[in-house]
Amino acid sequence: MLKKALIRSLHAFSSSIPLTWLKAVSGQNFISIFYHTVSDQELPHIKHLYRVRGTALFEKDLDYLLKHFTPIGLTELIEAVYYKKKLPQNTFFLSFDDGLAECYHIIAPILKKKGIPATFFLNSDFVDNKGLMFRYKASYLIEVLTKRQISSTQIAPFFKKYQVPFLDLKPGLLSVRWHQEPLLDDIAKAFQIDFNVFLAQQKPYLNQEQISEMIADGFTFGSHSQNHPTYNSIDLASQIEQTLLSQAYLNQHFQLPYQTFAFPFTDSGVSKAFFDKILGEEKFPLTFGGAGLKHEVIKGQLQRFGMETQELSTPQQLIHAEYCYYIIKSIFRKNTIYRN
Ligand SMILES: [Zn+2]
Repeated sequence: MLKKALIRSLHAFSSSIPLTWLKAVSGQNFISIFYHTVSDQELPHIKHLYRVRGTALFEKDLDYLLKHFTPIGLTELIEAVYYKKKLPQNTFFLSFDDGLAECYHIIAPILKKKGIPATFFLNSDFVDNKGLMFRYKASYLIEVLTKRQISSTQIAPFFKKYQVPFLDLKPGLLSVRWHQEPLLDDIAKAFQIDFNVFLAQQKPYLNQEQISEMIADGFTFGSHSQNHPTYNSIDLASQIEQTLLSQAYLNQHFQLPYQTFAFPFTDSGVSKAFFDKILGEEKFPLTFGGAGLKHEVIKGQLQRFGMETQELSTPQQLIHAEYCYYIIKSIFRKNTIYRN
């Protein structure tokens, strides 16, 4: 939260600092970026989580990136990390989490037009719209319950039943964590909101055909757990199971010649033992976090920063602020993640 506030305050002035200066001072000329989706339409399952970037702004992001960096794909990135193959001078790696349908309908066509490779990380439980991630359930519930003018006093008893603190409808639903998902299902049931109907109508996720088509177009895919838990809230065995089973789904259905994984939410608090298993024994060449422009002592684990926030900031604001934040962190020697 403090980090978010600081980065937001950096937006105000950092965009006027030249990027060449930021690159030179930080010594960082590789950046890894992620999004979830891009849409010009309102998405009820995401609307209450963050501001979705529209196609014009997304293209502006990409044009800004292409002006200052060269795009690279997963294979080049693996080669750079493991075989000391030198990357071009300034490079960016682009990825998308959660396997949302706009990746096929909107994002892939734009990336193809601009010649940018990308990697898409999927939750195996949700491919083909078999299920809806709990955060998307929360956003969708907020949307429907607010429209129906359901008061917070009608919602409060459900929170009491599950012993989850409750303030108000929106903050209450947004505070629900992965292991409290039955609370969301209970509320939905009580107000006759059917997530399966929403899944069938909205089709928020990619299906297997779309994924196959994207693979044929040269895009790469990785796993993002089965159903999007926060890894530091589940034990090591469950972390490994969520990772391997979601990757097994991809291997089985799409016969990928590589495997890669991006953490759902955050890799904060994930132990070295997890990486020894996944990067070591299971031979995933790369795994990805979302902690921002930051180094890892663990070879093969790379950090990315997200372009989606509560405001529709410009690419300059987002990228320059991330560089400024990196420079501030490096003064305090806080830009490397150590794990034990
Ligand atoms: Zn995710």
